[in-house]
Amino acid sequence: MSELAERYLKVKERVREACRKAGRDENSVKLVAVSKFHPIEAIIEVAELGQKEFGENYIQEALEKIAVRPDLNWHAIGPVQSKKAKEIVGKFSLIESLATDSLLQELAKRTKNAGCTQDVLLQVNIGREEQKSGLLPEELIPFAQKVLEVPTLKLCGLMCLPPLDLNPEHTRPYFVELRSLKENLEKELGLSLPHLSMGMSADFPVAIEEGATIVRVGTDIFGPRAPR
Ligand SMILES: *Cc1c(COP(=O)(O)O)cnc(C)c1O
Repeated sequence: MSELAERYLKVKERVREACRKAGRDENSVKLVAVSKFHPIEAIIEVAELGQKEFGENYIQEALEKIAVRPDLNWHAIGPVQSKKAKEIVGKFSLIESLATDSLLQELAKRTKNAGCTQDVLLQVNIGREEQKSGLLPEELIPFAQKVLEVPTLKLCGLMCLPPLDLNPEHTRPYFVELRSLKENLEKELGLSLPHLSMGMSADFPVAIEEGATIVRVGTDIFGPRAPR
């Protein structure tokens, strides 16, 4: 077995283990293999092991890979410029990083023109970090209300990228906060949101303990990323 296959299967096992530990059904957590900067050959190898969901940060890179494997489920997980909305509509099964009015308006227009619907998550800047994109917690309710006014967008939940910390216990409080923001949003809007996308290589088991339904794992599957 290749090193890549071994790493992938190990991550799958760790997801199952974390679910067992948390008393959760293992099918309640979706593993997204974050393939940014990694070649299509690596993606194909992981897809052959049964992996369906892949995450990409950069739209141009993603579109090239999607053109080769449109059958896989692609997640946009990085900041998306609104001028890219036209190119991405219909290509991603989930846009996880909606957080600006300009992208919201463009997606509304482009989905309507294309006659399709788009599933989205709202990205929350959970650590209130200057350099990170995402909505601040207090911006969430009014922004979500605007999304709900667009019939071609389907609001599916929240995503976060907490401050980088190699100790997952330091990240746990951010996961707890995202879950509580989701519960509050559900109460305020009177609807249920299926997804909480949180947890990466350094901390996905802790995210699963705290209620993640999507974990986004890159390095632990594909190995270190070469600099761009
Ligand atoms: C790169 C990236 C990941 C994966 O990070 P790893 O630490 O390599 O697992 C997850 N989510 C987002 C938003 C990313 O940009």
